[in-house]
Amino acid sequence: TADVPLLEAKDISASYGHVHALKPTSLHVAEGELVTILGPNGAGKTTLMRALTRLTPSRGNVFFRGRDVSRLSTNRLARCGIVMVQEGRGLFSQMTVRENLVVGGYLHPGDIDTHLQAVFELFPRLKERLDQLAGTLSGGEQQMLAIGRALMAKPQLLMLDEPSLGLAPRVASEILGTLRELNRRGIGILLVEQKAPLALKLAQRVYVISLGRIVVELKTDEIESHHDLARYYLH
Ligand code: ATP
Repeated sequence: TADVPLLEAKDISASYGHVHALKPTSLHVAEGELVTILGPNGAGKTTLMRALTRLTPSRGNVFFRGRDVSRLSTNRLARCGIVMVQEGRGLFSQMTVRENLVVGGYLHPGDIDTHLQAVFELFPRLKERLDQLAGTLSGGEQQMLAIGRALMAKPQLLMLDEPSLGLAPRVASEILGTLRELNRRGIGILLVEQKAPLALKLAQRVYVISLGRIVVELKTDEIESHHDLARYYLH
């Protein structure tokens, strides 16, 4: 039903040895929602994303459309429709643009051509550079490729860890504009973004994370009146 969240995490936590990088944390993404996780360096944003997708061992429960997916591997989660674009993009730099996209489509081998066309429509630049090695693309193009590759897996929830990192402001807003468009098309989005103005412009809801826990959750249309927000992320 409409009330069941697309993604729900209950008391998810993760540690690196004795460092409790992520304290028990609960959050959700509703169907059709674009949610941003905002917070300073070292707050635990990447750890949270990795814990949700089991790239980092974690405790607690994760539900996808009400189904308990807590014990599923990253690969199984992708089959369910939960796909992450990692920080640093994780492209195969010695492979071409085309090869990177095809690898991303491994879950749906029969639909590769259709999905490629959809990616080219979104990012015409990638089509012009199909035979170029991923490692030689500009930062913005690499981010487009990373998102394109994730789309090849047909995500229902797309998770992105700081897609604007290291990009010129104009390129960053172009990328974030694409995310808004994907969200309009019905893909749920969970986004880590350190630049508050961008995060607030884009998202319907924001979680602010600090020192390994969510300290506040806000709807973006309420934020103007929330004077305390700045002290959570300005540093
Ligand atoms: P940034 O914006 O700088 O990427 P972040 O909010 O994503 O920061 P995390 O990368 O999740 O933060 O890190 C949270 C805490 O966990 C930090 O104190 C970090 O030093 C620590 N940490 C992260 N990865 C490891 C690791 N592999 N081993 C030990 N500690 C780690």
